[in-house]
Amino acid sequence: MHGHPSPSDGTGPADAHDHACGGEDLLARAERICRERGLHYTDLRRRTLEAVAGEGRALGAYDIAERLSVPGRRVAAVSVYRALDFLTENGLVHRIASRNAFVPCGHGHGGGESTVFLICRTCGTVGETVSRDIQRGLDSTLASAGFKPVSHIVEVEGECGACQGRGGTE
Ligand SMILES: [Zn+2]
Ligand SMILES: [Zn+2]
Repeated sequence: MHGHPSPSDGTGPADAHDHACGGEDLLARAERICRERGLHYTDLRRRTLEAVAGEGRALGAYDIAERLSVPGRRVAAVSVYRALDFLTENGLVHRIASRNAFVPCGHGHGGGESTVFLICRTCGTVGETVSRDIQRGLDSTLASAGFKPVSHIVEVEGECGACQGRGGTE
């Protein structure tokens, strides 16, 4: 797995490292959330989450549908989109807008923090971090533009630490 940039800037809960380390915690969390909220954790929702969680990079709905389909029993992308909507609403996956693709979220998000996605153009991994400073800056910038945000998600494309370490100039 990739080394993350310094996790020392108060990235929230104690389990902040979990997101890159496999799907088990996330899947258990999904079951708990659905139980607590009285939501129906359908087979398709579970399998969609497993597909996203088992991948090291952002996955599109068509890729997921492909993975879930077996000979004689195809899963339609539109069904996967519905499952992804459900998982997104419940904080289990995030949509990377610039890629129209999805990544698992292994940690809870507190209020007052922007989510920042670090998208590596070389290997395709998507790191995630949160920042109060960015949210504060965004809020004041948007306020002066008279704009009221409903989400605070920032996507940054570039090169991850691991790819930089490999020496990208060949
Ligand atoms: Zn997240
Ligand atoms: Zn990379």
